Amino acid sequence: GSWYQVKTEDGQWLQARMKGVFKIDEDITSTNPIAVGDIVTVEAEDTAEKTVMITGINDRRNYINRQSPRHKYQQHIVAANLDQSILIATIKEPRTSTGFIDRFLVACEMYHVPAIIVFNKKDLYKQKELDKFEEYKSMYEAVGYKVLCISVNEQTGMEEIDALLTNKVSLVSGHSGVGKSSFVNSILPGKNIKTQDVSNWSGKGMHTTTFAEMYDLPNGGKLIDTPGMREFALLGVEKDELSHYFPEMRSRLQDCQFNNCQHINEPKCAIKKAVAAQEIHEDRYLSYLSIYESIGAANY
Ligand code: GDP
Ligand code: ZN
Repeated sequence: GSWYQVKTEDGQWLQARMKGVFKIDEDITSTNPIAVGDIVTVEAEDTAEKTVMITGINDRRNYINRQSPRHKYQQHIVAANLDQSILIATIKEPRTSTGFIDRFLVACEMYHVPAIIVFNKKDLYKQKELDKFEEYKSMYEAVGYKVLCISVNEQTGMEEIDALLTNKVSLVSGHSGVGKSSFVNSILPGKNIKTQDVSNWSGKGMHTTTFAEMYDLPNGGKLIDTPGMREFALLGVEKDELSHYFPEMRSRLQDCQFNNCQHINEPKCAIKKAVAAQEIHEDRYLSYLSIYESIGAANY
């Protein structure tokens, strides 16, 4: 019974809905199968009310899932057809752990979405935190991720972000307190007004906690905000495929003696050797171990 806003190719907004339960995968169904970013086909439903029915969803380039809070075997697609995913993090007040960042990066690898890490609150960083930032920057850039440092409050580093966002579809996420809302509001000055419009159109009042909303960026491109979603689910990842989602491990897997090596305590493990030689950052390996342990655990 969900309603969606569909933007037509010529820029008009339509109120759309769909019927039935869609299959996402073999045994995973969803009652909410359409996500922000989906490209759909519609048919006129009620011309007086100007509503349309969604009749088809185009194949997705990629998508991000979230496990349903109510049904273990149901998933919600959060967003589809993304160019990149941005994690807002901080080194101070609060400090984002590398464990959290690495889980985010693993999820991005699983979903085939390029990741960018943006450290906010630069205005609070003293030499110690600036050094930490440089350490993170070289650690993550070495494995292929872009890393930036900004201050939303002082508007430093924002041009670089603008350049990265222009003409791209970007999803932004981050744990509580990092300044994600401040960030989104600062690059979308009209956001608050638009949010209000969205919640008023049905007349009956829509749910206020939506999964995701997409906004046009002033210079072209789109930003997807996911209110209330702090972490991507690592759904369906198997222990023995986890190392494939660490780029620096992926490129070395063929050098392990055993082709089912889990890189824990096997002999002649290329990953452990690379960690010992500091070619793989120890923090990244520790994150690997921690995520590995969490797979299959009760709260996973
Ligand atoms: P969210 O929970 O990630 O959405 O974070 P908010 O946008 O609500 O921000 C959390 C707190 O951090 C607020 O008190 C903001 O004013 C503050 N904040 C956001 N950006 C910055 C920044 O660049 N520098 C500093 N010092 N504080 C910031
Ligand atoms: Zn190994």
